[in-house]
Amino acid sequence: MSHLQTFQIYPDIPESLSFLEDLSRNLWWCWQRDAIELFRRINPQVWRQSGGNPIAAGTYISQEYFENVAKDDSFLAHQQRVKESFESQVLAPVDRSGYPFGEHGTIAYFSMEFGIHESIPLFAGGLGILAGDHLKAASDMSLPLVGMGLLYRDGYFRQFLDPEGWQQEEYPTTNIHYLPINKARDQAGNKISVSVSGPDGDIHAAVWQLRVGRIPLYLLDTNLPENPPQIREITARLYAGDEKLRVAQEILLGIGGMRALYLLGIPPMICHMNEGHSSFAALERLAQMISTYNIDLKTAMEIVPRTTVFTTHTPVPAGHDVFPADLVRPFLKPLEGRLGVSVDEILSWGQEPGAGKDSPVSMFVLGLHMAQYRNGVSELHGKVARRMSFHVWPEIREEEIPITHVTNGVHVSSWISQENALLFERFLGPKWHRYPLTSDIVNRIDEIYDEELWRAHQMCQSRLIRTCRMLMLKQYARRNAPRAMMEDAETVLEQGILTIVFARRFATYKRAHLLLSEPERLEAMIRSKTHPVQIIFAGKAHPKDHQGKDLIKNIVQFARKLEVRHRVAFVEDYDIHLARHLVQGADVWLNTPRRPHEACGTSGMKAAINGVLNLSILDGWWCEGYSSESGWRIGNGEEYDDHAYQDAVESRALYNILENEVIPCFYEKKGGNAPTQWVKMMKSSMKMAIINFSSHRMVADYERQFYIPAAERLKTLLENDAAEARALAAQRRRLRSLWPHIHINPPTKDKHGPFRVGNLFNVRAEVYLGELLPHEVLVEIYYGIMKSIDEMGSGSAREMNVKEDRGNGNYLYECTINCELSGRYGFTVRVIPRGDDRIRFAPGLITWT
Ligand SMILES: *Cc1c(COP(=O)(O)O)cnc(C)c1O
Repeated sequence: MSHLQTFQIYPDIPESLSFLEDLSRNLWWCWQRDAIELFRRINPQVWRQSGGNPIAAGTYISQEYFENVAKDDSFLAHQQRVKESFESQVLAPVDRSGYPFGEHGTIAYFSMEFGIHESIPLFAGGLGILAGDHLKAASDMSLPLVGMGLLYRDGYFRQFLDPEGWQQEEYPTTNIHYLPINKARDQAGNKISVSVSGPDGDIHAAVWQLRVGRIPLYLLDTNLPENPPQIREITARLYAGDEKLRVAQEILLGIGGMRALYLLGIPPMICHMNEGHSSFAALERLAQMISTYNIDLKTAMEIVPRTTVFTTHTPVPAGHDVFPADLVRPFLKPLEGRLGVSVDEILSWGQEPGAGKDSPVSMFVLGLHMAQYRNGVSELHGKVARRMSFHVWPEIREEEIPITHVTNGVHVSSWISQENALLFERFLGPKWHRYPLTSDIVNRIDEIYDEELWRAHQMCQSRLIRTCRMLMLKQYARRNAPRAMMEDAETVLEQGILTIVFARRFATYKRAHLLLSEPERLEAMIRSKTHPVQIIFAGKAHPKDHQGKDLIKNIVQFARKLEVRHRVAFVEDYDIHLARHLVQGADVWLNTPRRPHEACGTSGMKAAINGVLNLSILDGWWCEGYSSESGWRIGNGEEYDDHAYQDAVESRALYNILENEVIPCFYEKKGGNAPTQWVKMMKSSMKMAIINFSSHRMVADYERQFYIPAAERLKTLLENDAAEARALAAQRRRLRSLWPHIHINPPTKDKHGPFRVGNLFNVRAEVYLGELLPHEVLVEIYYGIMKSIDEMGSGSAREMNVKEDRGNGNYLYECTINCELSGRYGFTVRVIPRGDDRIRFAPGLITWT
């Protein structure tokens, strides 16, 4: 039917319920227990069928249900309560006087995916959910943040298994009429659209707005009649399609996204690029700065990176997007005129130093280059990210590479069970979910009665079991499973049995096979008469990852064995909805990555806030979260070259811990019903996670360490017609031209060793600075303990002072060394520019003895 005309009919909501419509159009509801309940109670069955989407549910609910609740005073009182919270948490104006971002300053948060709720399919996994949690926390904390992403029509693939257990993928199209989105409008109230140029013509995109509490999330969409089919494809699917499509997506997100913000009248004060996918945003921002402030590229280069945050999420080079230069060149060619440099120079910002103009463009390298604030997502990952970036800073030592870490966190009210939320409300106070919590408040979790916490947990477990059975029944029915299997699905899993969950992507490094490495031993645990365990698996394999798919198939085959089939389940299509039930109802959350491949991992945090105990390799966040009071660790954080050997050692350790520690602890129920030691660990786990691993803590860290200093810096850089930025650019030019003349003579000690602890001696070095003056540079002694005869272990730098101006650009520098700890030490001297991080570690501006 080619000339089909369509229209949508929405229910005629009675006047007294008009708030429901407002509420359904702001995703704030999805982290408010009371608001979810309000929607659900209109018609629970339709609510469930709609997948918890109030707009979809609204169109299925017959008019009569609305008429009924409109007369129900208990419903109206409930609605009033939610309305008041909405007004105070979302609509009430925020007093921003004296605020570092000013009245109208914004932080733009760019991400390829956003996982906010299961009904909005804009995410694939952990990265997206993290971004969603970032927005939710920013809303709770009234941060002036806006999100920027893409509106995918088909999103990420949905998983189902064929009868043999082999993963299949499908991409159902989202009905966008059921999404709470509106066309974005500029300050004058006009709808806006953006376009970016590509090798196959212009890419036009509509700009939508989705409201996440106080935070607007803008989404670009190329599915427009004016675009040819291959351009409409750009925002069809997430992480699918070839390299060229991927470049087009990232160009659209970065360049198109930044353009959209300027058109909307909200040029960002700070740009936060969540993973390298959005690194192109910095290029468009440079161009916008150049024309807005009438400055040159060099000056803009002093501003943009100083107000950009780049967060990297992957610990392996293969995880970075790297594109052939020829593929990126035509997309960036149009920037030549606006930036005033050749496209090859622009490309070089994303290429390895010295690799040549046709070398591949790395979005990671571009991100590092364009941001002064760079971070990994856990302490260990920060270290790994520094190690991975040595080629970008070849002249400095690994520990000095300017990449820090902000450990990820989870949005507690999105992931907490309703039972636990009620307990928190009682014990932590009614506003526990609004701010980062301090330990004196969170410690009140100790006051919760053991029996009550245990009962709350049992409720979650029973809901989890019901959900698994329901999903499995649906999944079996779809593949026409035999009757016996359908019956199994109705009775799979049992309340009260120690429940282990392994739910995560089936990437090889996550090692789902570790738990199955000794099937007989595992079977014995599962079938134990007195201390049985049951296991739930869930997770998707990347469509091209055959090894991952094999793993799923092996698990499914194992789960079918007659002896274990009631106690082992694989639930298809791991998503936010299933994840929520799993992290609330499991007893043990299992994680067996190959260290250090797990950058952070957040599912374990979601489990921990619910009192689910983690059993994990010491990797990612668990290196920071683990203590013997709140969970178990497998190994001591070893890394191995021989992977087969590592698997053997670690799977044995896993079995031993399960048999000797986890199972006995769980089944030790003296006197009452609750296992005392276990419940104590549950409380410890909840406290640890809520204090240290909430997204409120995470966003507060970003705000304090990056957003506020960057906002303050922006103001000083731009004052007086960008005088400081211009001066910095001039200074950098001066440093670049004079730097090659710097020369350091070998430093000398004024006393000969050996020294005793407590001795002092002076180190002197003659440094030739040429025309540069001592206030422009830092002359530092770099010293530390020796690792081997000629290699220094970790070291640190200390400033040396001018002792004597010897004329003609020669200076004698000196500093005193205090012999504090015994050992063998080494030292050397270097010169770097004086200034902030942006100039201090500029490649090419460093001279060692
Ligand atoms: C939390 C979450 C993830 C990420 O968790 P990891 O610990 O990194 O595996 C992935 N998928 C879903 C659906 C989640 O809820």
